[in-house]
Amino acid sequence: MKTIDASTTPACPSNPTALANRLQAQIHAKTLDCVHCGLCLQSCPTYRATGRETSSPRGRIYLMRGHAEGRLDDPALLAEEAFLCLGCRACETACPSGVRYGEILEVTRAAVREQQPGGRFARALERFVLREIVPRRGRLAWIVRLLAVAKGLGLDRLAVRVLPEALARRAAMMPEIPAAAERKRMPAFTPAVGVRRGRVALFEGCVMPELFGRVNDAARLVLSRAGFDVVVPEAQGCCGALHAHAGDDERAKVLARANVEVFGEGATGASGKGDAGHGAERAVPGGFDAIVVTSAGCSAALKELPHWIGEDGKPLAGRVRDVLEFLDAEGLDIALSPMPRRVCYDDPCHLIHAQGIAAAPRNLLNAIPQLVLVPHRNPEACCGAAGIYNLTHPEMSETVLAPKLDALADAAPELVATANPGCAMQLAAGLAGRGIAARVVHPIELLEEASR
Ligand code: SF4
Ligand code: SF4
Repeated sequence: MKTIDASTTPACPSNPTALANRLQAQIHAKTLDCVHCGLCLQSCPTYRATGRETSSPRGRIYLMRGHAEGRLDDPALLAEEAFLCLGCRACETACPSGVRYGEILEVTRAAVREQQPGGRFARALERFVLREIVPRRGRLAWIVRLLAVAKGLGLDRLAVRVLPEALARRAAMMPEIPAAAERKRMPAFTPAVGVRRGRVALFEGCVMPELFGRVNDAARLVLSRAGFDVVVPEAQGCCGALHAHAGDDERAKVLARANVEVFGEGATGASGKGDAGHGAERAVPGGFDAIVVTSAGCSAALKELPHWIGEDGKPLAGRVRDVLEFLDAEGLDIALSPMPRRVCYDDPCHLIHAQGIAAAPRNLLNAIPQLVLVPHRNPEACCGAAGIYNLTHPEMSETVLAPKLDALADAAPELVATANPGCAMQLAAGLAGRGIAARVVHPIELLEEASR
């Protein structure tokens, strides 16, 4: 067997051969923990859907290792399977050997990105959107404004009727665009209400401010009511998770380093703009007690920065907390009004599998008087959103979502709570498609309403 040393292989990104060798060495080293026991198979949504070994975690790891050892007959199969995988990481939770499948997947996708199915044009379009629109707030805001106009004119409904089925499916997933008031920037500084318990930075994300500004604002208000000064650094940017999941590790690292500058140890978030908010912010000495995040995909990515950029990522990663994790650990310490509603909580994969957070959201929802947390079957199964997977693989995405919609239909909640924007959009579209009236919310929105 060919042996590959990850520690000595050169890592020069300007040299494609050295880069390929480095990726191969990383893949090889990370796959060695798998003992092929197969205990992960039934946790895998693509294995359950297809019954194929190559579409299972064990099968994919076998392909990855074969690629790293240069003995894979059909490299296109690895590319297909690497992108058919949802990246849900349910296999990590199931694995008794501690295989870090998410890390192997990211490196593999970076290595086989050019061979992924879908054609050169689709790859170029994805790369353009991820590099030139998603992380650039001004451009993204313009796209969202255009989408709002298109929706206002009913063009989305027209598109669903006239486009070929594959495109119509994607058009049907267009999310609701919030009112312009919800898409405004949040105040740069919000002081603690009552006794001050600490100072946190709020990480906004790229899509969240445009499509889920109400969620970020709810987090800001609850954190401040719970006794924390809340700073929203203006210079912060996209976490890079979508880029890493798409195999663009190069851009993911650039974005990671930019956020390290803004949120790293000792950073105060001051922008130097001198408006009232930032003036107040400068009056508070020291760094942040935590960097609080409302999107599970972003908090998972930020906690894993050391895997992307090594030691430089540790000061930031070590202080990242999902907002529900943070509030549960710190204690809410605020009065909550009764909220007589039936709520199903659905676990985002990047909260439960990537971060191991399952109890915190339920503890917080259970703290709201009269709120009834209704269990449903298999809340930890993937919903099929997986970043932009529901756009790149709509058929598999729908197959994966279907059992969850069945379970929610049986549980009949008034609200479905979940903590990731992609999952929220996927569930909302799926519920609407089935004619189920339950509204999808982030748990922090319910806490904000109850703590007004
Ligand atoms: S990440 Fe999810 S879809 Fe991919 S192999 Fe693991 S369980 Fe299967
Ligand atoms: S990933 Fe873990 S659970 Fe799955 S086959 Fe390998 S060792 Fe077993």
